[in-house]
Amino acid sequence: MSRSEELFSQAQHYIPGGVNSPVRAFRSVGGTPIFFEKAQGAYVWDADGKRYVDYVQSWGPMVLGHAHPEVINAVIETAKFGLSFGAPTERETTLAEKLCSLIPNMDMVRFVSSGTEATMSAIRLARAFTKRDKIVKFEGCYHGHSDSLLIKAGSGALTLGVPSSPGVPAVLAEHTITLDYNNIQQVRNYFSNHGNEIACIIVEPVVGNMNCVPPIPGFLECLREVCDQSGALLIFDEVMTGFRVGHKGAQAHYNIKADIITLGKVIGGGMPVGAFGGRRDVMQMIAPSGPVYQAGTLSGNPVAMAAGLKTLELLEQSDFYKNLSARTTQLVEGLQKLADEAGIPFTTNHVGSMFGFFFTSEKKITNFKQVMACDIPLFNKFFHGLLKRGVYLAPASYEAGFMSGAHTDEDIQNTLQAAKEVFAELIA
Ligand code: PLP
Repeated sequence: MSRSEELFSQAQHYIPGGVNSPVRAFRSVGGTPIFFEKAQGAYVWDADGKRYVDYVQSWGPMVLGHAHPEVINAVIETAKFGLSFGAPTERETTLAEKLCSLIPNMDMVRFVSSGTEATMSAIRLARAFTKRDKIVKFEGCYHGHSDSLLIKAGSGALTLGVPSSPGVPAVLAEHTITLDYNNIQQVRNYFSNHGNEIACIIVEPVVGNMNCVPPIPGFLECLREVCDQSGALLIFDEVMTGFRVGHKGAQAHYNIKADIITLGKVIGGGMPVGAFGGRRDVMQMIAPSGPVYQAGTLSGNPVAMAAGLKTLELLEQSDFYKNLSARTTQLVEGLQKLADEAGIPFTTNHVGSMFGFFFTSEKKITNFKQVMACDIPLFNKFFHGLLKRGVYLAPASYEAGFMSGAHTDEDIQNTLQAAKEVFAELIA
């Protein structure tokens, strides 16, 4: 029995499913989750001492790679002066100022402790600002686990959503409309009939939660347009894309203006941080400057702010994003070539340092239905083949992969060599 198997069996006695976030349990790919012990740069080591090249990067935050010495040092030095005060600190303003200077259309920002809190609060704010209850989201996008956002499209009429988890009141589903990502006509039709009932559209500008699916040309533009026409607010959930698709996020990458932007992951450098921000007139509705309640005991935590600040500072190195993007392209193009040579139906998507690959004969994946139709058993075999060879991918086919600044050319060549061997096994 491996140490990971032993630890997993112990964990299951005390923690539901043995994990503190479901995807970690390997249910989708089968087998036992790998328990990690340490991480450095592009690598993680498991409890048995085996090293893996990591393309999960803690689900996105570790854009510099794990345990960057300067980030770790910032955390240690800050922690010496206390872990939490529950009172304002200068660092919060410094990080807020930095975010407002980098992220377009962000005049003010409020810090929270997770992406879930950021999107939940952004929705409340949009509802208060517009005095409307209904929100629009898209199938395949994930915005954390607050009740209003755990609603999926029903199988029948478009407007009848259903809770995607027991415990979410069915009445909430009446207020969450789930449309198809990248379906411009459907958005236009829906808004032409119901636009004036909608408080906001929330969208992952590049979806990283149904593998990696970028917007088709015109989709984000259409969202902006229908929001302008109907008075709804446009929320870009950049918890994943922020400081991932580029230094200024998806708004700058696609040249689309959002009214509220949510952030998380990278801005905490691996510590628990989220944020939502946007137009001053909207943000000033938040308590205590306005009536919309929002709070947090650990919000703006000094250690988390220090990790975020140092991370953002290090991202300013020249050509950081250019190199990151080039490495991602090298990996996905390499995988595509190897799959083609092996005769395996395969296609890829990538934007900046987010990437995804699909076992499918479709040439391009642009929507949830196509993602659902991919060959999951083949992905699972590929996943385990790479895992055995020391490459750690997200343990589910519906998750994006992430490149970090610490991945080297050699890491990518080793990954491609491993992939070549696994593709050969898949066709044997
Ligand atoms: N929004 C997006 C786009 C995400 O990818 C996630 C998490 O993966 C969240 C929100 C929720 O963030 P958290 O897990 O920090 O609550």
